[in-house]
Amino acid sequence: MKPTTRRAFLKQTATVTAVLAGCGVPSDADERQAATSVRVPQVPWYRRTLRWGQTNITEIDPARYDIAWWRKHWKRTQTQGVVINAGGIVAYYPSRVPLHRQAQHLGGRDLFGELCQAAHEDGLAVFARMDSNRAHEEFYQAHPDWFAIDMAGKPHRAGDLFITCVNGPYYAEHIPAILREIAERYHPEGFTDNSWSGLGRGTICFCENCRKRFRERAGQDIPREKNWNNPAYREWIRWNYDRRLEIWDLNNRVTKAASGPDCIWAGMNSGSIIGQCQSFRDYREICRRADIIMLDHQSRNDASGFQHNGEAGKLIHGLLGWDKIVPESMAMYQAGRPTFRLASKPEPEARLWMLDGIAGGLQPWWHHVGAYHEDRRMYRTAESVYRWHRDHEEFLVNRQPIATVGVVWSQQNTDFFGRDDAEVLVELPWRGVMQALIRARIPYLPVHADHIDRDRGQFAALVLPNLGALSDAHAVSVRRFVERGGGLLATGDTSLFNEWGDPRPDFALADLFGAHVIEARSAGDEVRRKKDASDTAHTYLRLSLERRALVDGPQTGAEPKVKGDRHPVLRGFEETDILPFGGVLEPLRVDAGTQVLATFVPSFPIYPPETSWMREAKTDIPGLILNTTAGGGRVAFLPADLDRRFGRDNLPDHGNLLASLVRWAAKDDIPLAVEGAGLIDCHVYRQTSRLILHLVNLTSAGTWRQPVHELIPVGPLLVRVKLPKDLNPAHARFLVRNRKVRFTSTAGFLRLPVESILDHEVVVIG
Ligand SMILES: [Zn+2]
Repeated sequence: MKPTTRRAFLKQTATVTAVLAGCGVPSDADERQAATSVRVPQVPWYRRTLRWGQTNITEIDPARYDIAWWRKHWKRTQTQGVVINAGGIVAYYPSRVPLHRQAQHLGGRDLFGELCQAAHEDGLAVFARMDSNRAHEEFYQAHPDWFAIDMAGKPHRAGDLFITCVNGPYYAEHIPAILREIAERYHPEGFTDNSWSGLGRGTICFCENCRKRFRERAGQDIPREKNWNNPAYREWIRWNYDRRLEIWDLNNRVTKAASGPDCIWAGMNSGSIIGQCQSFRDYREICRRADIIMLDHQSRNDASGFQHNGEAGKLIHGLLGWDKIVPESMAMYQAGRPTFRLASKPEPEARLWMLDGIAGGLQPWWHHVGAYHEDRRMYRTAESVYRWHRDHEEFLVNRQPIATVGVVWSQQNTDFFGRDDAEVLVELPWRGVMQALIRARIPYLPVHADHIDRDRGQFAALVLPNLGALSDAHAVSVRRFVERGGGLLATGDTSLFNEWGDPRPDFALADLFGAHVIEARSAGDEVRRKKDASDTAHTYLRLSLERRALVDGPQTGAEPKVKGDRHPVLRGFEETDILPFGGVLEPLRVDAGTQVLATFVPSFPIYPPETSWMREAKTDIPGLILNTTAGGGRVAFLPADLDRRFGRDNLPDHGNLLASLVRWAAKDDIPLAVEGAGLIDCHVYRQTSRLILHLVNLTSAGTWRQPVHELIPVGPLLVRVKLPKDLNPAHARFLVRNRKVRFTSTAGFLRLPVESILDHEVVVIG
């Protein structure tokens, strides 16, 4: 079979077979079948290239790149698409674009061209990789007005390189010229770019282009400094977001004009919302435009764990749709803490990151830095995961997640409520809720605040984890959801600020919470807000004493004698009247008809122990309020920031209470239960005729301290999955153990045992 034929296959043919097979390296049999099969509407390459690889070329590599070896590696790993360095800071091909400097050791070689041709001959799709926000000094000397400068006119630099300005001709002319040159000469399938969005939020550019454009937009000068309360600064933020979208659109126009409508420019994006905010990348708007998201999110951090990868997959698909794909760059080298570019990442660590991402709907993309390695162990890591992925890919794409709990987020909240402290004010509460849900094996989906109305039909409850900045429109969406009988768990400062982060006189959702602010926040309370959120005080929550069961213990004689069951959300706390807290609470005015299930116990000394007794054992400051609306919606408002506390302190009481509140708000409408010990990240999906359940075993000595040294099996587990009414499954199968499993079904739930899980298991029920 001639290379051109394979190339033609990659570009032009898509059959039913090819769609199901993900259209990888086509065999001759595939091609014969393609020739005789019924043609279906073309599935573009960016929807069917499911396994990616990248050798990030270093400047020394042109002298030593063993293309033949890498072609074998592509084949060994069942890779269908590669990301190849092309241009930007340096060119890996002989470029005619002025000032587009060649890579140091290129020596006239056309490395990009050779690799691109080899990949195309092997039937692989090619993303030409750009790196386009910096340039060498000669470029700066030639066009100083194309570069970002500070207020004094000094250029912003990163090491030896000069940072270009997104509002200058570098982005409007230079980069498009390179894209055009590469597209017309080599016809890669598309383009990616690591650092396409230019200078981040931390630096203000005062170049002539920025001054002029901002004045045209806002009728005023660029703000001289960061000030979240200054309307000009807020406008500057919005303006910067809009400019990145213009660049996104421009680059796509250029590549499509040069090489056809499927030659897309896909940039790259992060799995961190704070990262996206700091780079002015509006995820929602980007996903509205994108055909594929190339995710640069290479490894875990200790605080958020492997489970963050599954979460990132679900969050992005929530914006992008589940019919598109999200390949993620996964480091095969020791990335994270610490980084060693040339040492292999321990295989169990790399595997778990890959497997949790796949469970969340991401596509794998192995990533090496450099084309030659003395630590050859890293070449082995991807192969087994990729081969398993190829064998079962039909179950891993084009599926809809099943979850009845939605966790609401917005970039607006991260920007304007989180401001400079988004890690503490936004991330930690989010992480605490996620961790509580994963620990309780409650399937959830991240929901963008703009999509509450769109997605509400699938949810029994929404969680608003300290969603401080909530617009009036978003508050209306939440209220509509609850008025129709939906449940709500809101924590901390949720809805106390508008979309710009300005304090409101009362919660926008005060009627749902059944609670009102007594003393309104001032605009300048940011310091206190951060302090309260960052500090841990020696405070407690007192659980409602009404109708508690009196478990044996010493009595003071002053306690109520009423016996009975406490509210069900407090189940599991029968032997305690207090919970450790750590935060600080303000008094609130509570509506009649609500139930206050926990109150604040103010701080008292820890040391010396003789002084460690409660000075004020009981207040009426609420820590947990339950309310039920006329429409039957259950609302739990948790002024106590137990989500943030759990995200940081990991006390099981906090996680248990959060999970209990979610179950109560959702009226126990949870489609999954998994019994058995271990930290297991569970994801449930639906394809037309079947359910797909991922169970990722994150139980390890290295779970919260990377890297994982060894995998530790868990099991046996008992799984119960709710069956959709229109699904009557005949069999269930394990895709990792590769065998059938017996199940029973009762009362709409299917039950099956899982004997043991080493790293992951995927159950197909249908
Ligand atoms: Zn500028």
